[in-house]
Amino acid sequence: MPSEFSGKHVTVAGLGVSGVPAAKVLHGLGTHVTVVNDGADERARTQAAELEALGVTVRLGDGTASDSGSAAGLPEGTELIVTAPGWKPTKPLFTAAEQAGVPVWGDVELAWRLRGHGGRKAAPWLAVTGTNGKTTTVQMLASILEAAGLRTAAVGNIGVSLLDAVTGDTEYDVLAVELSSYQLHWAPSLRAHSAVVLNLAADHLDWHGSMEAYAADKGRVYEGNQVACVYNVADRATEDLVRAADVEEGCRAVGFTLGTPGPSQLGVVEGLLVDRAFVEDRHKNAQELAEVADVNPPAPHNIANALAAAALARAYGVPAAAVRDGLRAFTPDAHRIAHVADVDGVAYVDDSKATNTHAAEASLAAYESIVWIAGGLAKGATFDELVVGAAKRLRGAVLIGADRALIREALARHAPEVPVVDLDRTDTGAMPQAVQEARRLAEHGDTVLLAPACASMDMFTNYNKRGDAFAEAVRELGA
Ligand code: ADP
Repeated sequence: MPSEFSGKHVTVAGLGVSGVPAAKVLHGLGTHVTVVNDGADERARTQAAELEALGVTVRLGDGTASDSGSAAGLPEGTELIVTAPGWKPTKPLFTAAEQAGVPVWGDVELAWRLRGHGGRKAAPWLAVTGTNGKTTTVQMLASILEAAGLRTAAVGNIGVSLLDAVTGDTEYDVLAVELSSYQLHWAPSLRAHSAVVLNLAADHLDWHGSMEAYAADKGRVYEGNQVACVYNVADRATEDLVRAADVEEGCRAVGFTLGTPGPSQLGVVEGLLVDRAFVEDRHKNAQELAEVADVNPPAPHNIANALAAAALARAYGVPAAAVRDGLRAFTPDAHRIAHVADVDGVAYVDDSKATNTHAAEASLAAYESIVWIAGGLAKGATFDELVVGAAKRLRGAVLIGADRALIREALARHAPEVPVVDLDRTDTGAMPQAVQEARRLAEHGDTVLLAPACASMDMFTNYNKRGDAFAEAVRELGA
């Protein structure tokens, strides 16, 4: 048992997906755990009962964890706080911790500190962050590492939890780790083998306070990298973050690009993914990794994801053939540019996961002539830039959801010639009607693309349900 934890008083801030496992692991390490949680709904009470049965103290809804007002202060004797990643740094609990000199870690920091504990192998981390494409890239990376015969898993925001991966019975050679900006904020000592920031667009600014703070938290992923800091050549901000990072001696900056790669870059040449970074004499040589057609789906942003995954795998020493095999074996998760069906020569594509404008911009760039289904909850976004970029590809647009007027106005300003259908209904019939309207607007060879650029919760439980409703409506068209 690491002496670092035994007998310590640790406050776990927040029940839920990270808090409950963290409390259990810490309890198992012999710490005195107190869990504080703002709400006291039924789910919280059930989780609390489960932890209390183990001997963990739980304080529900007593003000300790609230967002404002007179917080009850730090629980007596707290020496460390382990927080749920989504908790805002402005909470009074954290101010009290800072004043008392008590460190605050997130679940990722805890997992990082527990690597190698109990005699397990401390697998290095290949880390992925960015505004969009994290899950896809991490899954591609895990697929490539598996194809190379390595014991690995896609962990973090997805799949296996990081804490399980470092404390469970399965041993890994290397981990493909997805990290959100929140998790990075609370992970001060994380040092990845190699890492990538895929892209950087305004998101979650209410949490971070400013674009600079958001970028700085993303940039933490590069701190202490050992072999490669991978950046996006098309997104200058990611390269700036590499420059600002303090890395291990010998660690290299490696770019990925959809164009021809320069030395120390991975890119695309005549339909091939090519490596000019991890080859001998990169000024003269290049290594073919895979064909663009091996990437599923071969949309531009997804090829970028594949190049980023390949760069991390190559930094770890994976051979070129495994990159190809891993990419071929990869299938994307549902609702990410999923081809649903062709009906009367029109393709129907579900990218319900495009919940912000940056993601929608990428999927709109992937097709030539589009009938665009968009709308939902805008989360404070503006749509001018998105519409300007996509205008010439739009055959028409069908707008749904609470904030559709914002998109309608942007279309009127920048693409007045594009026909728009504005659906003023939010009942279950709205999506079938949207699909029928889209069919009416579409011509042979077009793509009807659900890329809402908005969150779904005004009309659906989540983006999965929105995508399912779209697919269902498309199937009805073909029936
Ligand atoms: P994340 O885990 O970061 O949310 P996902 O891999 O789940 O990312 O993809 C979410 C959405 O973002 C996709 O449906 C697609 O619309 C868009 N997307 C994926 N990769 C990129 C990228 N490299 N650049 C921009 N948008 C992307």
